Amino acid sequence: MATALDIAKHNPNAAPLTVSDAARAAGQETLSKETLSKEAISIEKKAEFSVTASGQSSLVGLTREELKGKLGQIGVPEREHKMRVAQLWHWIYFRGAKSFDEMTNVGKGLRAALAEAYTLERPQVVSEQVSKDGTRKWLIRMPSTGPFDKGAEIECVYIPETDRGTLCVSSQVGCTLTCSFCHTGTQRLVRNLTSAEIVAQLIVARDCIGDWPDATPPEGAFVPTDGGRFVSNIVFMGMGEPLYNPDNVIAAIGVLSDNEGLGLSRRRITVSTSGVVPQMERLGAEANTMLAISLHAVRDDLRDVLVPINRKYDIKELLDACRAYPGLSNARRITFEYVMLKGVNDSDADARELVRLLKGIPAKINLIPFNPWPGSKYECSDWEQIERFSEIVYKAGYASPVRTPRGRDILAACGQLKSETEKLRARARMMLEQGIGAEGVYALGDSE
Ligand code: SAH
Ligand code: SF4
Repeated sequence: MATALDIAKHNPNAAPLTVSDAARAAGQETLSKETLSKEAISIEKKAEFSVTASGQSSLVGLTREELKGKLGQIGVPEREHKMRVAQLWHWIYFRGAKSFDEMTNVGKGLRAALAEAYTLERPQVVSEQVSKDGTRKWLIRMPSTGPFDKGAEIECVYIPETDRGTLCVSSQVGCTLTCSFCHTGTQRLVRNLTSAEIVAQLIVARDCIGDWPDATPPEGAFVPTDGGRFVSNIVFMGMGEPLYNPDNVIAAIGVLSDNEGLGLSRRRITVSTSGVVPQMERLGAEANTMLAISLHAVRDDLRDVLVPINRKYDIKELLDACRAYPGLSNARRITFEYVMLKGVNDSDADARELVRLLKGIPAKINLIPFNPWPGSKYECSDWEQIERFSEIVYKAGYASPVRTPRGRDILAACGQLKSETEKLRARARMMLEQGIGAEGVYALGDSE
């Protein structure tokens, strides 16, 4: 039987395999503590987002420091860097410029030099699917990282409501963790996204929905009507574990929240983690975003199975780290995500224990109806039980919204985001052709 490692050897497009890939290939479903700790450092391959289809490097998604480096490379004197970066920043991130020619306040000579060396290309949108309810899902191909890489593909989902638009972004291709109810965790190929690749997801979304000063949304598009930006909130709830890629996630948040450019408030950016406790303090100190915790169980024995990182950082450690998260108040609560699995974690007693555990933490609890996927061993709780659970939590004083299914017709569900590209593409194509719908996507925008 070929192992995952064999497959990687024969597949020039394969990203490096991780310990969990090998374990999965060998039929080991469960992870040991040792495996988990190795996993935390297993994704070291760095992608160079900047090499685009044209072979030049794109400036889109770069941080101020990275832009300075690019200017230095084409001989712009250091004393001009700050001013030139401010100009580029405005054009790239405030106006969404797609060519250097648009940059009218940059001298012709420098514009030509920039165009010679660099581009403003975006990663390629391989497909866009639009749900009847306005939800959009993009399959995005990142530029190749070398001769044997055809470019990592990730998914990004846009969920419009009347008073907000939420973009669900990915932080990794696949995920090394193996939460037993999550499809993304079954994906073999895993690598970290660069900060530029994370930022580029918002740029692509704004291009597609016309969310730049001089742009208009596509005919008939559903976008918020409150006069604000079409993308007003970002949630790191796509593929990957953001806190296994903290450097790039934190750098990306710096670009996303910069007031002179993309300008998203950090209070409208939510990072969801399965519980990488050692990185939570850093996230609070360096990014200061809203925090969401994938809790899903109230007892360690069950959480060990559902969210295996629990074997490394148990519920107590996790909740202590939550209590220490900076800036918590009633206006700045932690979201606890809780997937509703029939007969597994959805009893009244579980709900009461949840309330007891969260005592003293400014929290809201987001109940997520389980999204089944081919081969998954769980069922979604009955609707009545979800309501009973929600009621118990609500009566104890916590907001307990149930995530509304969105975009059922475009296959863009929580925890199901592009597992195996080819398979999904074939399935999505088939569904489009047949006009049928299967899984749903969930409304995520419940932070501020
Ligand atoms: N890795 C991070 C963020 C991505 S997952 C994390 O785990 O928090 C985003 C959310 O979707 C998490 O709460 C995750 O537990 C949930 N999820 C995963 N698979 C799901 C499924 N099949 N049905 C419903 N929610 C799921
Ligand atoms: Fe990874 Fe999150 Fe899925 Fe767990 S739920 S496998 S951490 S993406």
